[in-house]
Amino acid sequence: VRVKGDYAYELGELAATLNFMAQEIVRSNQIKDDFISSISHELRTPLTGIKGWSETLTMGGFDKEETEIGMKIISKETDRLIGLVEEMLDFSKLQQNEMKLVIGSVNITELLQEIMLNVWAKAEQKQIHLKLEGETEQPVMVSGDANRLKQVFLNIVDNAIKFSHENSIIYLVVSKGDESATISVKDTGIGISEENLRRVKDRFFQVNHQGGGTGLGLAITQQLVELHKGTINMESELGTGTTVQVTLPLMKAGAEPPADSGDAG
Ligand code: ADP
Repeated sequence: VRVKGDYAYELGELAATLNFMAQEIVRSNQIKDDFISSISHELRTPLTGIKGWSETLTMGGFDKEETEIGMKIISKETDRLIGLVEEMLDFSKLQQNEMKLVIGSVNITELLQEIMLNVWAKAEQKQIHLKLEGETEQPVMVSGDANRLKQVFLNIVDNAIKFSHENSIIYLVVSKGDESATISVKDTGIGISEENLRRVKDRFFQVNHQGGGTGLGLAITQQLVELHKGTINMESELGTGTTVQVTLPLMKAGAEPPADSGDAG
């Protein structure tokens, strides 16, 4: 038999839960508002460039070289728009459990070398050296979707370059355990304060927007790694640098990919 006091206690608990839920709703609405504001800004910047240059070129009277500069900017900004829209679509697919992975055997060492080539020009601009270390002699084969894993490490390495100082080194370290491979991307850049690191890890948009971008990159990266049944961890210290560590399941010799990994939905 319940006594009156029990109900009072339970009501108190219920009130606290409802209050917590209300706060969460306010918080998630705030995150959405921030996101819409940053994505709008990110979309507007290239659109302004495209509109400006197309209007200017329409006026005519430019020589070949000037026209080429204008056309190149239009093309570059269009690529940026496509990239942003693709990022939004990926994010939405992940949110709705509709991202499909094409699982196969991925040579992670080769994939990292490919990424180093991809970002070479960007790194060179800041005189940043990328060094691949650890298990580099023998191929390390993980179970995953090569294109999606490329996206994961491109995002991490891209951030490392973006937030590194000139003339610095970014280490990509591969190590192999019994069941998994670990890839660490270590930079000595600006780092992230404890408070902001918590916000960055706290999924999605609670990021500092100083470097531009939408804040979708890491949210997508994290969800893609989790979809691969891997883990991702970020450690950082303001003014010292950041290390992002990704662990992925090894591809067992002769093993079939996990039955459910090809379809997230
Ligand atoms: P975006 O898509 O806007 O680049 P990300 O989700 O990739 O955003 O990253 C979120 C935020 O985390 C960045 O805006 C930046 O503030 C911080 N961040 C990510 N990687 C690093 C890093 N290597 N060093 C310092 N800050 C970083």
